[in-house]
Formats: sequence, structure tokens, C-alpha cells
Amino acid sequence: MTTLFVSDLHLASARPAQLALFQQFVARVAQRRARALYILGDLVDAWLGDDDDGSPPNREIIAALASLRAAGVELHVGHGNRDFLYGPRFVAATGARLLSDYAVIDLYGTTTLLTHGDLLCTRDVKYQRFRRVVRHPLTRHAFLATPLAWRQRIAQRTRSGTVASMRRKDDAIMDVEESSVAAIMARYQARLLIHGHTHRPAIHDYADGRRRIVLGDWYERDGVLVCDDAGQRALRVSDYLHLPAVQA
Ligand code: MN
Repeated sequence: MTTLFVSDLHLASARPAQLALFQQFVARVAQRRARALYILGDLVDAWLGDDDDGSPPNREIIAALASLRAAGVELHVGHGNRDFLYGPRFVAATGARLLSDYAVIDLYGTTTLLTHGDLLCTRDVKYQRFRRVVRHPLTRHAFLATPLAWRQRIAQRTRSGTVASMRRKDDAIMDVEESSVAAIMARYQARLLIHGHTHRPAIHDYADGRRRIVLGDWYERDGVLVCDDAGQRALRVSDYLHLPAVQA
């Protein structure tokens, strides 16, 4: 039995190939009866509230995720910086359990910390300030109280603003800060940290035996992390689809 991790799929109707790949991927996970699938944030490019569940491709995504429940695969969904508004209706429709900003699991005997990754980019002070504002319960409440069409317009405007500001920011600011990584792993006594967000897939092994795995996004590399008793393997989704049953 395997446990799978993905993040930063950024599914959107403008990218139908990725949506099709996601549907194939989920069907294969269900067929192989994996133990669990963890989606560590930014599953979709925008989730503007649970009443956004009818917009394409959200409806298709919910249908795909719901099929995991019937197959007995545990589904865990974390919030990304694009999709932090999942609520009770999403949970009821998909059978997902929502992850908090930091979640600790026992991954085949290894104490493992899961997070989206944006909280670890502590050099980006402006972003951290922005995050605190938009994640505040009052902001969420006020935002969700507005009509969906208005939220869609705001999201569109913010998206073009984000792309422009990311172009201006230098490279180092967009990555995690190692001192923050060390501090959070110590706080949760984790030997392994799995996150996404930075779109810099890698396995970092530290001198003290800790490991940090950065998941790949689904823009070009469509990554999946496959874990079992034997350890962790970072694969392309296309390779996962074709794995022989004994390794899957
Ligand atoms: Mn992200």
C-alpha cells in the first residue's frame, strides 16, 4: 500500500491537458487502492468559496475526488495560497479531510511534517503580511459574503497582479528560508518535511539526517511522491500511471 503526495497542480479550465491527467491519475489511485492521497495545496488555480463548486473545472475535480471514497482511499487536502477557502460543502462533496497549515503524520514510521510551503518563505515579508490579512477570519467572512461574480472579478485582477509582482521579486525571496525550515521541523520533531509551493522539486538531505522533499508542480513536470515501507520516490505522473502493480 502506498501513500501519495501532490501539490501545485493549479488546475484551470485554460489547461485541459492537466485536468485530463488529473482525472487519469485519480482513477489509477482508486484502482490501485492506495492507502492515502495528500494534496498539499494549490490543487486549483482559484477556489473562491464552496459556492464556486459549479465553475469549470471545479465540478469535474469534485467528481474525481469523490470516487476515491468509494475505493476506500483516504483523501487529505491542504490549503494553498490560491485555494484556501475550502469549507464544509467541499468536504461533504469529496470526503476529504482538510489539513491545517502544519500537519504531522506518521509516514511508515517517520514523523513527517506537511505544509503547503508558503509559510516557510519568510524572506518575502510583503507576502507574509498579505497572507495574514487575507487569511484573517474577518476578511474571509466578508469576502465570502459578496456575490460570486464579484469574487471572480477580484480573483482575475489579483492573478495578473501576482504574476507581475513575481517577475519583480528576485529568486532567493521566492524560496523557503532554511532557518525557518530548521525551526519548524524542530518544533514538530519531524525527520521529514514535505511541501510544495516553490515549484523547485528536489530532495534535500541535511547533515543531521533530516530530509526535506519539495513536490513538483503540474506545469511541466507533473510530479507525484510515492511513499511506502521502502521509502520515498519522486516520479512523473505519467510514470506512476504505468508503474507495475507491485511497485504502485
Ligand atoms: Mn502555492
